[in-house]
Amino acid sequence: MVRLYNTLTKKKELFTPINKAHVKMYVCGPTVYDTAHIGNARSVVVYDVLFQLLKSCYGKVTYVRNITDIDDKIINAANEKNSSIESISTYYTQAFHEDMKSINCAEPTHEPKATENIDRIIELIQYLLQSGHAYKSNRHVYFSVESYPEYGALSGKKIDELDHGSRVGIGENKKHPGDFVLWKPANDIDYKLSSYWNSPWGEGRPGWHIECSAMSYAYLGQDFDIHGGGIDLQFPHHENEIAQSKSAFVGSTFAKYWVHNGFLTVNKEKMSKSLFNIVKVRDLLTNGIKGEVIRYALLKTHYRKPLDWTENVISESQETLNKFYRLLRGVSIEKSDAEVSKDFIEALKNDLNIPEALAVLHEMATKINKTNNENEKLKLTESFVKSARFIGLLELSYEEWFTTGVNHQEIKRLIDLRRAAKQNKDYDTADKIREQLKQMGVSISDNEDGTTTW
Ligand code: AMP
Ligand code: ZN
Repeated sequence: MVRLYNTLTKKKELFTPINKAHVKMYVCGPTVYDTAHIGNARSVVVYDVLFQLLKSCYGKVTYVRNITDIDDKIINAANEKNSSIESISTYYTQAFHEDMKSINCAEPTHEPKATENIDRIIELIQYLLQSGHAYKSNRHVYFSVESYPEYGALSGKKIDELDHGSRVGIGENKKHPGDFVLWKPANDIDYKLSSYWNSPWGEGRPGWHIECSAMSYAYLGQDFDIHGGGIDLQFPHHENEIAQSKSAFVGSTFAKYWVHNGFLTVNKEKMSKSLFNIVKVRDLLTNGIKGEVIRYALLKTHYRKPLDWTENVISESQETLNKFYRLLRGVSIEKSDAEVSKDFIEALKNDLNIPEALAVLHEMATKINKTNNENEKLKLTESFVKSARFIGLLELSYEEWFTTGVNHQEIKRLIDLRRAAKQNKDYDTADKIREQLKQMGVSISDNEDGTTTW
């Protein structure tokens, strides 16, 4: 039985799905205006493990993780780069996919984009207007927090204390400072970049919160099991999603369990682009740090606790994985029918206690090292690898792990050479190097900012 900490009830609860034959989970995905930092990656890795666990316990699991491709940050990025919204969001969506694949994250079942769900968003806003939960004002449509007395159930905020909207609300004719925007009119930049849609309330674009309510409804229906995201989204984003969805669909529970991952921090401060303290997944990868090392580093700390990022986190993870991979020398587990360790699964079932599951792997490693019986050693190793792979670790063979380490330097050297060749407009050499890398089994792609990913 799976137990999960539910932010809504502030308790660790037994997970009882609405329908055991089909578990449904929605997680807030990236805003695609830049490449992912490891804080974003933490959220993806955590729900990736939860997805694997649920799949192993229940017949069918639908996991929806959206792409936020309508947002001020994307519009600003397109405007600054003199580019189109579409090319910015397409480019960064692809980069996100590549980076998450590098750290062994599986794809979600559906990955809806806000731009592809405008009709649903408009439909939902219409329900809210018809039922008196929303109102039009000064070409905007707002959600009225006072129309939903349970507002604050997730975050503990009280309607009377809400003033977060007051500063931005000036001149927007809100009835209450906590009211938030569902639809806003197009401005000059929106017209310039075509980032607007027709609606019954004029040309404009949706607010961020309504996008997630509409996409979860479109792909999972009114009620579903789990809603996840980083703890930064608890308020106001998730609180507002609850208010919108439960107001639009009277009697619905919306999400039954709310799961939030803790922050990834630097010097105890949230990793965030606005604080200029981000470490990007792709920069770590191009610096020769293996995807599995990044993944291990993100899994080492319990998902609800803050994870402070230091040089040590990477080096310790590298050392541990080296130790684990050494056990695989001469072992092929491809045809093995070994099972994932029971203790390992039990740890995951206990509110996704991944550090405890990793401790089980360490214990297994010790046993493997101690035993002299070759048969037993092989059996233990097979179960050890099966368990590690359950959470996306030890996906490579001993040879691949240790040889790619050596080749890293060489790959980096060749990429640097190719960059220099391209700068000199020596495209012949650049193409030859690309071919040479291909022969080594390395495919490369050039990024907008002049860097190369492989
Ligand atoms: P964003 O691209 O900012 O919309 O965020 C995408 C996901 O990453 C959301 O679930 C966020 O809560 C999560 N996230 C962003 N920054 C961090 C951080 N520093 N630590 C943990 N999760 C984060
Ligand atoms: Zn969301």
